[in-house]
Amino acid sequence: MLRLGRCVCPKCGRENHGEGCLGTASQCVCGYWFSCSELDKVRLYWILQLCLCFSMTILFISLALFCDELPDGSWERFLSPQLQIPAISTFVVSYRALIRHKRKIANDEQLLRSFTWGVCVMTIAIFTAIIRVHRWH
Ligand SMILES: [Zn+2]
Repeated sequence: MLRLGRCVCPKCGRENHGEGCLGTASQCVCGYWFSCSELDKVRLYWILQLCLCFSMTILFISLALFCDELPDGSWERFLSPQLQIPAISTFVVSYRALIRHKRKIANDEQLLRSFTWGVCVMTIAIFTAIIRVHRWH
């Protein structure tokens, strides 16, 4: 699983993935305290990664759905509001929902599970979109 955000303990070198609620500090097994701002950076990075995954999923689903109504050029197609509006609103909505979730729930298990689902659905959506686009031209 891709988990790019992490901070390394300066004392023992162990990696910390920023689990725990937003705005809380956390202690490494060696006794070093990670500051809450240090961990929040990692947590926000992780949340952004999830939001990006969800909005990409929606982008490809809309590409598959509206394929024949979209303009011809690849950039015009990519930037058309039919794709961008659902993708951007998914990003905003999931960002707000995840921030709220992460303020209350320390465990990342649910987030990881939804990320895995997001990646699966995104893969299916990408292939569907590719097949649709190729069939149309
Ligand atoms: Zn440590």
